[in-house]
Amino acid sequence: MAVCGLSRNAQSGNLRAMKICRDLPSLRAACAGLRTSGRRLGLVPTMGALHDGHLALLAAARSAGADAVAASIFVNPLQFNANDDLARYPRDEDGDLTKLRDAGCDLVWLPPVEAMYPPGSASVIEVAGPSQGFEGDARPGHFRGVATVCAKLFLQTGADIAAFGEKDWQQLQVVTRMARDLDIPILIQPVPTMREADGLAMSSRNRFLNAEERATAPVLYQVMQAVARDITAGVAVMQVLAEGKSRLIAAGFAPDYLALVAAETLEPLKQKSAAPMRLLAAAKLGTVRLLDDMGVVG
Ligand code: AMP
Repeated sequence: MAVCGLSRNAQSGNLRAMKICRDLPSLRAACAGLRTSGRRLGLVPTMGALHDGHLALLAAARSAGADAVAASIFVNPLQFNANDDLARYPRDEDGDLTKLRDAGCDLVWLPPVEAMYPPGSASVIEVAGPSQGFEGDARPGHFRGVATVCAKLFLQTGADIAAFGEKDWQQLQVVTRMARDLDIPILIQPVPTMREADGLAMSSRNRFLNAEERATAPVLYQVMQAVARDITAGVAVMQVLAEGKSRLIAAGFAPDYLALVAAETLEPLKQKSAAPMRLLAAAKLGTVRLLDDMGVVG
C-alpha cells in the first residue's frame, strides 16, 4: 500500500501542501512530480530532532537553485555502533513536521527502517580517504553507514542538490567524495554552522547537557577561535594545539581530538599550509560528545 499524505499548516493559514511519504514508490512518484519541466529538487538529509541549523539547510538548498525542497528524517541504524546509543537518539516527529512545514518544505521522506534496508540488503558503500581518522576512529563503521544511506537517499529522490552542514565537516567531505567517486549527478552544497548566541554549535544532542555543562559548552568554540587565531598569527601549530587541549581539560572537557587538517582530504597538518585548512574538535562534556570545526586562515 502506498503511504504518502499531505499536511497543511492550518494555524498559519498556509495552504501550501507538504507531502509526507513513508514508502519508496510514493517517494519516487512525489519526487518525479517535483522535478517536472526541469525543476530542480533540493534534498536535506536529517535524523530529525530538528533545530534552526537544519532549517538553514532548507534555505541554503533553495539559494543554491532548488525550486522545491525535500527533507528526509531517518535515524540510520547503520551509522550507529555499540558505543553510540541509537535508542537514546532524540525523536520528535510531530515537532519536526511542524517546523518543516513552517519553513516551506515541499516533501518529507520518513522511511521505516525496513523501507531503507529491506531484508536481504547486502550492499554498503565504503569511502576511504576522508573517512579515515577522527570520527572514523571514534565511531568505527560510522561513515560506511553515512555514505550508504546518503547514496540511497540521492538515488531514491533523484535530487539535483543536497545541502549538508559544515558542522559535521568530515561527513561533508565523505559525502562529497562519495558522490564524486560514484558519478552521482548531484551538487553537494556546504552550509555554514548555525550557532547559539554564545557560540555553541547547534546540535540535536545539546539537549542532553545539564545546566552546568551547557554553561561550559561555549568554551569549546572560544578555545577553537583562539587556536585558529594563533595558527594564523604563526605560532607553532603543535604547541597551539597542545595548549588548546589543556585549556579544554581545565574547563572540564574530555577532549578526543583537536587537530589542524587539510580541509578537503583531512590529512593532519603539523604546520600551516597555503591550501585551505580546517580545525576539527571533538570533546566530551559529561556524557555528551560535542563536535565543532572552523576554517583557519593561513
Ligand atoms: P543530523 O540530523 O544531526 O544528522 O544533521 C543533519 C544535517 O544537519 C547534517 O548535514 C548536519 O551537518 C546539519 N547540521 C546539524 N547541525 C547543524 C548546525 N548547527 N548548523 C548547520 N548545519 C547543521
